[in-house]
Amino acid sequence: MFKLPKKIAERLSQDIGIDLGTANTLVYVRGKGIVITEPSVVAVNQKTGQVVAVGKDARDMIGRTPTHITAVRPLVEGVISDFEVTEEMLSYLIKKSQSEKMLFGPRVVIGVPSGITNVEIRAVRDAARNAGAREVFIIEEPMAAALGARLPLEEPVGTMLIDIGGGTTDIALMSLGGIVRSKNVRIAGDALNQDISAYIRSEFKILIGERTAEDIKIAVGSVTKQITPLQSTIRGRDLVTGLPREIVITDSDVREAIQSSLSTIVDAAKEVIETAPPEVVADVMRVGVYLTGGGALLRGLPQLLAQELKVPVHVVEDPLTTVVRGTGLVLEDIDKFRSVLVDDDEGIIQN
Ligand code: ADP
Ligand code: MG
Repeated sequence: MFKLPKKIAERLSQDIGIDLGTANTLVYVRGKGIVITEPSVVAVNQKTGQVVAVGKDARDMIGRTPTHITAVRPLVEGVISDFEVTEEMLSYLIKKSQSEKMLFGPRVVIGVPSGITNVEIRAVRDAARNAGAREVFIIEEPMAAALGARLPLEEPVGTMLIDIGGGTTDIALMSLGGIVRSKNVRIAGDALNQDISAYIRSEFKILIGERTAEDIKIAVGSVTKQITPLQSTIRGRDLVTGLPREIVITDSDVREAIQSSLSTIVDAAKEVIETAPPEVVADVMRVGVYLTGGGALLRGLPQLLAQELKVPVHVVEDPLTTVVRGTGLVLEDIDKFRSVLVDDDEGIIQN
């Protein structure tokens, strides 16, 4: 096959890094930085199979769509659940990120959850190729996050990272540019939202939507007791009368609602530490654990984790963008980071 000289191809396309998250999708353009942040939602017309909207526009349709339009989250629990929709989403992102009509498709670095199968990796790779990528490089999200957070990934020092996203919490222990131990649990931001709506349904007999539950979590959610209670007035449908009703929710309501999910996350982190090689544990005890993903922003969570794991806990700067910034670093010098990329089983990784 005719292969374009590398330098020319680089000038004729704009390479991009993508964090395909369960909740948010971000795109980094080489030399420019983060250019797209959209919720990972696609609205599909079921009659024609066509994609009607992507991102925020599609999210605003959730729960408001006529019956033949459905809003789909293409990634469930960090894994592609709908291949065609994912491809449409990638194609939209690739097009939108290219400032002018480029002659060649971009090289694309994509973060995937650690521990996904080869079949799933192939699916991501194929989706990106079909969506117009010239070359696709896959990196496991904890590695991308560690790079994005500028942690010493390639040194012989253990680094522990907990990424609390929408669909999954990924816990990884890394050293020397590789993953030593990892664990994914399907309890993360979405589960907390569901806990909150279930709690409000059972305690207040009021029905609220997914978005309202998330708003409550962000507005008044706190893992630790607040000196002045946080409060939020919300509206939902009264289950008894069927009419709208207003109630006041406090941080202590949210704490009670999410308590059990939080324990699951804490236990998973404990398990990773308990099964890790002693040298790595010693490093983690000294350096601490790094917390990232949107869930890291939950009030008091670092304190709770520090208390339970008995190690210092640091929230990385700008935790919602860590992974995509990591893919951006890789883009700047793919050769340097080749060892942290997932091998291509088709052997196409050459220059
Ligand atoms: P993903 O990588 O799976 O797309 P993100 O890292 O983008 O996930 O995190 C999204 C999750 O973070 C959502 O569940 C969202 O509700 C949650 N989140 C965002 N901001 C906050 C906040 N301030 N407090 C608590 N949770 C938050
Ligand atoms: Mg993520």
